[in-house]
Amino acid sequence: MNNTIYDTIVIGAGQAGLAAGYHLQQAGLRFVILEASDEPVGSWPHYHDNLALNSPARYSSLPGLPFPGDPNRYPVRDEVTAYLRHYATHFKLPVITKAKVLNIEQTGKLFRVLVAGRGCYLARTIVAATGFFHHPNIPILPGRDQYRGRVLHTAAYHTPEPFHGQRVVIVGGANGAVHIGMELAQVANVTLSTQRPIRYLPQNLLGQDIHFWLRLTGLDNRQWLGEKSMLVYDSGEVKAKIAAGRPDQKALFQSFTPDGVMWSDGHREKVDAVIFGTGYRPHLPYLAGLGALDETERVLHQRGVSTTVPGLYYVGLIRQRSVASTTLRGAGVDAQVVVKHLRRYALAQQASGGRSITHKAHAWAIRSSEWAGLITMMRLALKEQHNTSPRLVGEALVRSAVVSAGFLGLGSATRLYSTFESGNW
Ligand SMILES: Cc1cc2nc3c(=O)[nH]c(=O)nc-3n(C[C@H](O)[C@H](O)[C@H](O)COP(=O)(O)OP(=O)(O)OC[C@H]3O[C@@H](n4cnc5c(N)ncnc54)[C@H](O)[C@@H]3O)c2cc1C
Repeated sequence: MNNTIYDTIVIGAGQAGLAAGYHLQQAGLRFVILEASDEPVGSWPHYHDNLALNSPARYSSLPGLPFPGDPNRYPVRDEVTAYLRHYATHFKLPVITKAKVLNIEQTGKLFRVLVAGRGCYLARTIVAATGFFHHPNIPILPGRDQYRGRVLHTAAYHTPEPFHGQRVVIVGGANGAVHIGMELAQVANVTLSTQRPIRYLPQNLLGQDIHFWLRLTGLDNRQWLGEKSMLVYDSGEVKAKIAAGRPDQKALFQSFTPDGVMWSDGHREKVDAVIFGTGYRPHLPYLAGLGALDETERVLHQRGVSTTVPGLYYVGLIRQRSVASTTLRGAGVDAQVVVKHLRRYALAQQASGGRSITHKAHAWAIRSSEWAGLITMMRLALKEQHNTSPRLVGEALVRSAVVSAGFLGLGSATRLYSTFESGNW
């Protein structure tokens, strides 16, 4: 048993955990990052061999350290792994590797984190940043049990070689499925079998990568796509190749047969392998005893703040706060938002010696920011009084009153939002 009481324990040292670590360090909090594997690089080494990022290097950095090299290139998998490894050492983040978290329970106001082979760690708050890659989603399709061919998820796909000359069906029409389909179509006869038509997002627009525009318009920081709406990045090649049938695209097959699939028109076809590019599902078994998940294992949260367990936070959840939440470029922003929230909570806990003051501390922090806004505006008005003719003073004071009212309104709205956000605090 480690007797140190950390402000925070981060679980997982992928990009989400490292970004959280950066902001925790900036906030001056005492924390440690527990990582199950033997290095702080997340799931990147396990992704398929020819994976290249869909955002250029300039839009693929974690906070505080630009991605090295030509900012306009699209880095490949191993470059991302090297970048993450370097990130952890560059900022001397306190990562403990080979530390798999088995369970978390609450004792009073502290979290007790049980780590395989290492005993327990104690913390005031938790950031769960364990990603989703280790829990692929494979839907149950009719006839699956009778099919004798090979079935796998894209998570288990590495190179096209084992499929040379084969008939392959890929289920799914999002980026992962489509890009593996493109690669496989060079050596195999491939069909993308999709529930709905594939929708494309131009990789380049008016001479700029699409991420330039997403950032400029603020869209990257919002939830503007429905949960099931996936857009496939394309610089023209993907659409053209699919139109040419390499790979081709069909509606989702009706069922498996013993040696293949039956298409929606009733045609049966022999198929060597079916690859599911059907995404991932959150899987956080170590939180099961805390009441943080619903009965279907979905995380109960608002923008990364648990709505049922005070002091529990997340980074890297699918669409946690914006469309970019599960990307390299989005991890830093989400981590910053969460750490801001967490810091207030942890410091209040620390000051109270662990007594339950969370809601009051929270309300106090918001009210004091309202007063700070009000005082700043009054000071500005007084300053204006010295610089302008006396007849404009009244106007300045009215303006300041209006803006101050805005601050108070904003404060109230924030308070309402925070109450909603923090559930039963
Ligand atoms: C095929 C594919 C392609 C992608 N392409 C892009 C792209 O082009 N651009 C982009 O920005 N994003 C891309 N992503 C999305 C995203 O950036 C990655 O999935 C990224 O790895 C997510 O980072 P993470 O830190 O949330 O999770 P992970 O990278 O999965 O890291 C989680 C860490 O938690 C550890 N862990 C898990 N359980 C425990 C436990 N119980 N105790 C302790 N440690 C634990 C794991 O060992 C792991 O190191 C892609 C994802 C996939 C699957």
